[in-house]
Amino acid sequence: MEIALVEKNQYRFRIEQREPMRVPGVVFASRALLPQAAGDKALEQVANVATLPGIVRASFAMPDVHWGYGFPIGGVAATDISHGGVISPGGVGFDISCGVRLLAAGIDREALGRDRMRRLMDILDSTIPRGMGRGGLWKLSGAGEMDDLLVGGARYAVERGHGVPRDLARCEDYGVLDGAAPGQVSRRAVERGLHQVGSLGSGNHFLEVQAVDQVYDPATAAAFGLRVGQVCVMIHCGSRGLGHQVCTDHVRVMDQELHRYRIQVPDRQLACTPVDSPRGRAYLGAMAAAANYGRANRQLLSEATRHAFATAADVGLELVYDISHNTAKLETHEVDGVARSLCVHRKGATRALPPGDPGLPEDLVRAGQPVLVPGTMGTASYVMVGLPGNDAFHSACHGAGRVWSRHHALRMVRGERLRGELEARGIAVRPSSWRGLAEETPEAYKDVDTVAAVTEGAGLARLIVRLVPLGVVKG
Ligand code: 5GP
Ligand code: MN
Ligand code: MN
Repeated sequence: MEIALVEKNQYRFRIEQREPMRVPGVVFASRALLPQAAGDKALEQVANVATLPGIVRASFAMPDVHWGYGFPIGGVAATDISHGGVISPGGVGFDISCGVRLLAAGIDREALGRDRMRRLMDILDSTIPRGMGRGGLWKLSGAGEMDDLLVGGARYAVERGHGVPRDLARCEDYGVLDGAAPGQVSRRAVERGLHQVGSLGSGNHFLEVQAVDQVYDPATAAAFGLRVGQVCVMIHCGSRGLGHQVCTDHVRVMDQELHRYRIQVPDRQLACTPVDSPRGRAYLGAMAAAANYGRANRQLLSEATRHAFATAADVGLELVYDISHNTAKLETHEVDGVARSLCVHRKGATRALPPGDPGLPEDLVRAGQPVLVPGTMGTASYVMVGLPGNDAFHSACHGAGRVWSRHHALRMVRGERLRGELEARGIAVRPSSWRGLAEETPEAYKDVDTVAAVTEGAGLARLIVRLVPLGVVKG
C-alpha cells in the first residue's frame, strides 16, 4: 500500500483517513527522519492501526518509529473502552513493560577517574547476568513467590530488601501496575521467568555508565537530581521470557477469536479483542503481571549496580526515574471535549507527563516527568521532560529507533572491530557476544540528536540533559 503523507508543519505529517481507517494517522518526524516515506512498512502499519475498533483521535507515530509486529515500534493508539475499543497485544509488544531507568551517582566523571572506572566495569561485567542461560540475580522460592512478584512488581522487590522506598516514588506507577492477574499467566510463562529475575536479556538491552555532558535547563535538571559532569547509569531491559510467553499465548487466542467479535483487521498481527470482554480483561491482567515482572527486574539490576558502585568507588546511586515503553494503560483523557476512559497503547513509546500532572510524585509535580531517551552505545542519550499540549495522549519517543535490521548490521559490522573503535573513543565495552554487539552498532539506529530535536520541535517533550557513554555492559 502506498502511503501519502501530508506535511502539516515541519514536524507533523498526516496520513489522511480513508477506508477502512477510522481516524487519520499522525507522524511526528522531519523530512530528514522520513526516509522512503511512501513505501515504508512502518507507515503502512500506522495506517493499519487506524482501523482498530474504538480508536480515537489518531494513530500516532513518534519520531523514532520503525517496523514492528503488527503495530510499528514508536506507535501510540488509544481506544475508547465504553465504545467497543479494543486491546491488542501487538500494540504492547512481546517485551511487555520493557523500559529504561536512570540512576544518578554521587560522583563526577573526573573524580571517578580511569582506574576506578575500569574496576567498576569489571565488576558489572562479572555480576550482571545477561545473554542466554545465565539465570538471574534473584532465586525465587517457587510459583508462590512468583505470584507475589507478579502482583507487587518493584514494590515487592523493595519489600524484600532489594532497594529503598524512595526508589518507588521515582518509578512510573510507583513500581506496580494495578490489576495484575497471575492466574492469566501460563505455567510455561512462569517457568520461563522463574530463573530470570534480575537479568538483562540480549542485544538491545544494556546497562550503560554515562556522564552528563550538557544541561539545557539547569532548574529542571536539578529537580531531577542531575548536574553537568555527573556519572549516571542507564538500564534498559524488560520482562524476559515471561513477558514474551504472555504475549505469544494471548495473541494466539485472540487471533482464533477475532470472528467471534466480528472484528476485521488488515493484518493478523493486529489480533485484538474489546478491552471490556473476558478475553480483553484476561490479557490486561496478564499484561499487568508481566509488566510487574519487568519492573522488579529493573529494580534488581539497580541493586546489583549499587553494589558495584559501592565496591569500586564507595558511592551511592539515586533513582532519577523508571519508565516503561511497551504498555497498554487505562487512562482518562479528554477527547472532543469529553473525558473518556481509554486504553492507551504505547509500543516503543513512553508516557511524557507535563508539569502539574496529578500522576506525578510530589517532588516532580513542578518539573514534569523525566522522559528517558537512550541513543546508542556510541552516541548520546537524552533526558527530556513532558510538555503541556502533547495531543498524542502525553507520549514521546523511546530511543533513536532502528534503521538497519539485525541481519543487515551483521553483514556490515564485525563485533571485535566495533569494540576496538568504541574503546579507542574511550567507551569501555563489555559484550556478551560479538554477534550481539555487531547487531547493535550505532549505525543501525537513527541519529538520536535529530530524534530528540524533532521530539522537542513537535511539542512532545523538551530537552533537559544530554548524556554520553563511558562504558556499556551489553546484553
Ligand atoms: P528497543 O526497546 O526498541 O529495543 O530499544 C530502545 C532504544 O534503545 C533503541 O531505539 C536505541 O536507540 C537504544 N539503544 C539500543 N542499544 C543501546 C545502547 O547500548 N546504549 C544506549 N545508550 N542506547 C541504546
Ligand atoms: Mn526489550
Ligand atoms: Mn525496550
